[in-house]
Amino acid sequence: MAEIPGRPANVATVTRPPKRRRDQVPKGENLCEHCTAKCCHYFALAIDEPVSRRDFDFIRWYLLHDRASVFVEGETWYLMVHTSCKHLRDDHKCGIYENRPQICREYTTDECEFEDDWCYEKYFESPEQVDEYADALFGPQFLPLDTPEYHTLRSRKPTSLPLA
Ligand code: SF4
Ligand code: SF4
Repeated sequence: MAEIPGRPANVATVTRPPKRRRDQVPKGENLCEHCTAKCCHYFALAIDEPVSRRDFDFIRWYLLHDRASVFVEGETWYLMVHTSCKHLRDDHKCGIYENRPQICREYTTDECEFEDDWCYEKYFESPEQVDEYADALFGPQFLPLDTPEYHTLRSRKPTSLPLA
């Protein structure tokens, strides 16, 4: 093994096999057989497009939770939760294949996420990102921490949360 400059000689290097593209999968083979079931590791729900500062604050609230992100595709906004299906087996196959939900049956490999090279029109992973975006549209929601008004005795009224 060739030594990597700056890395101690006794540290092992893991060599990953090059990623295949779908056109490199032999003809007639099922693409899913060459995938780690990426489509079973999240779910996404369409949400209303945010049009006000308050709407963006709801999105900020979503993103205060673990494993949540928000993306925009084709002008539709989606809330995505990065979580694995309970029925996904260790071999990346479906444990309830015969009874899997209709949405799983209808999902095809035509435009699936087999490759990693797609990108969203917009993608928010953190509350700070969405806050910054909304600040650019509507101006800051909160006073900077170093403004004197921030340190009054009375707390500012918190933003209301939506009811479930
Ligand atoms: S549909 Fe696409 S992402 Fe899902 S398992 Fe098959 S190849 Fe992977
Ligand atoms: S039910 Fe099966 S196909 Fe559907 S998400 Fe779960 S593991 Fe994947």
